[in-house]
Amino acid sequence: MTAQANTQTAVPTVKLLIGGQLVESASREWREVINPATQEVLARVPFATVEEMHAAVASAKEAFKTWRKTPIGARARIFLKYQQLIRENMKELAAILTAEQGKTLADAEGDVFRGLEVVEHAAAIGNLQLGELANNVAGGVDTYTLLQPLGVCAGITPFNFPAMIPLWMFPMAIATGNTFVLKPSEQDPMVTMRLAELALEAGVPAGVLNVIHGGAEAVNLICDHPDIKAVSFVGSTKVGTHVYNRASFNGKRVQCMMGAKNHAIILPDAHKEQTLNNLAGAAFGAAGQRCMALSVAILVGEAQNWLPELVDKAKSLKVSAGVEPGTDVGPLVSCAALDRVSSLIERGVGEGAQLVLDGRQPQVAGYAKGNFVGPTIFSGVTPQMSIYQEEIFGPVLCVLHAATLDEAIELINANPNGNGTALFTRSGAAARHFQEEIDVGQVGINVPIPVPVPMFSFTGSRASKLGDLGPYGKQVVQFYTQTKTVTERWFDESEVGGPVNTTINLK
Ligand code: NAD
Repeated sequence: MTAQANTQTAVPTVKLLIGGQLVESASREWREVINPATQEVLARVPFATVEEMHAAVASAKEAFKTWRKTPIGARARIFLKYQQLIRENMKELAAILTAEQGKTLADAEGDVFRGLEVVEHAAAIGNLQLGELANNVAGGVDTYTLLQPLGVCAGITPFNFPAMIPLWMFPMAIATGNTFVLKPSEQDPMVTMRLAELALEAGVPAGVLNVIHGGAEAVNLICDHPDIKAVSFVGSTKVGTHVYNRASFNGKRVQCMMGAKNHAIILPDAHKEQTLNNLAGAAFGAAGQRCMALSVAILVGEAQNWLPELVDKAKSLKVSAGVEPGTDVGPLVSCAALDRVSSLIERGVGEGAQLVLDGRQPQVAGYAKGNFVGPTIFSGVTPQMSIYQEEIFGPVLCVLHAATLDEAIELINANPNGNGTALFTRSGAAARHFQEEIDVGQVGINVPIPVPVPMFSFTGSRASKLGDLGPYGKQVVQFYTQTKTVTERWFDESEVGGPVNTTINLK
């Protein structure tokens, strides 16, 4: 992605957040933030200079000195206030998000809401960051744990959930006593910045949260900077693998949530109407730009007769701009994404899959320039085809057939990805067999997109994740803290020789 020279001045600029101040970048490299339904230029985002990025890390390092000592109740109360501010500004946040990302207003509110749930969770940090104590592990000796913050942590986020995913990261990192440098997606940074402003309003002190913008250079600086102790990444497998290797090599703690190819198995005993509705929503909603989108359906046995009705459901979805009432499928995020998805559909046809529903070049009244692809369905897909092997990240569903549940499970387990999967059935025995045998980290039973709520963690597996600990939940408290064990003994002065009048100076 090439940044552009800063030649225009009419559109607003996206600011950096450094040391509690919204700062205009001095960069000479800028990129346009574009409404994907209209191609209107909404803003220009800078690729921060190296000096600006170093200033953001330095401000986080300085703020850590006091923030780490801020009482846990004071930290929690900021997030109580923050969740209130996000609720009060929900409509505005959703409108910004829809304008820059494309998803429907309802999906945009969902995006903010799923992040808000993590903010609510961060407000419970008093209970989450408790240590453990074992009494009398030897005569008169106790052992207990402290969960201490690491220092400056950083987050790198993708375009597809520009509210939820930043909110997976900085609230829990800050609530546990760390300071943070966030690098949002350069494609849609505006809602993330509004959330950062609200965090300041809620009372996050200067320097505790910083935001830089940019691309590969910013990401590499985060991976290399000696003052950054941990990196959270969400995005594609290619970039996530690079971030994991580079930041781990530099001694950092790293967690990377990455790409996917999520399969649903449909058994012939499933509730037909609910299953088809769920499949259509999970495959084509948000234009398929969800890491948990169901992009492969395996119809088992007689369920393959449901294909025509699935096609009818898909055809009934409304393709239009996210701001239009009743829209089910909005535009893809960029012209580049449109080209990529269109060319993958072309490849699917070339490789011999049957294109039973072609969503290319839909007529969308009033939005002739939008990056639209309507629901698209391929049947007769085989695991050798590139439409099966690649994450399409568009509203494209690949349909395969299997004779038995075990054959379908085998297919899924042979796919490298492990983000999510779902089974549709009325059989408890089949569901239990599936949950035991399937090698995927997030499993839905009659639930198409099984993303856990924040008291659990996001638990994608295999090629969809690098690092042991996931975002939010108990796992992220471990990720953002160093467990220290203290083993202590106090001598009874009357037994060991009486009091000693010595003054200890701590400083
Ligand atoms: P991306 O990997 O292109 O971008 C993610 C981040 O990396 C962005 O901030 C971007 O600026 C940066 N980046 C891009 N190219 C880079 C490079 N060459 N070197 C260094 N940094 C670079 O991902 P995206 O297109 O924004 O998001 C879509 C991807 O994210 C999909 O693969 C999707 O499955 C994945 N995703 C995964 C999860 C999950 O939880 N597993 C959630 C959401 C999205």
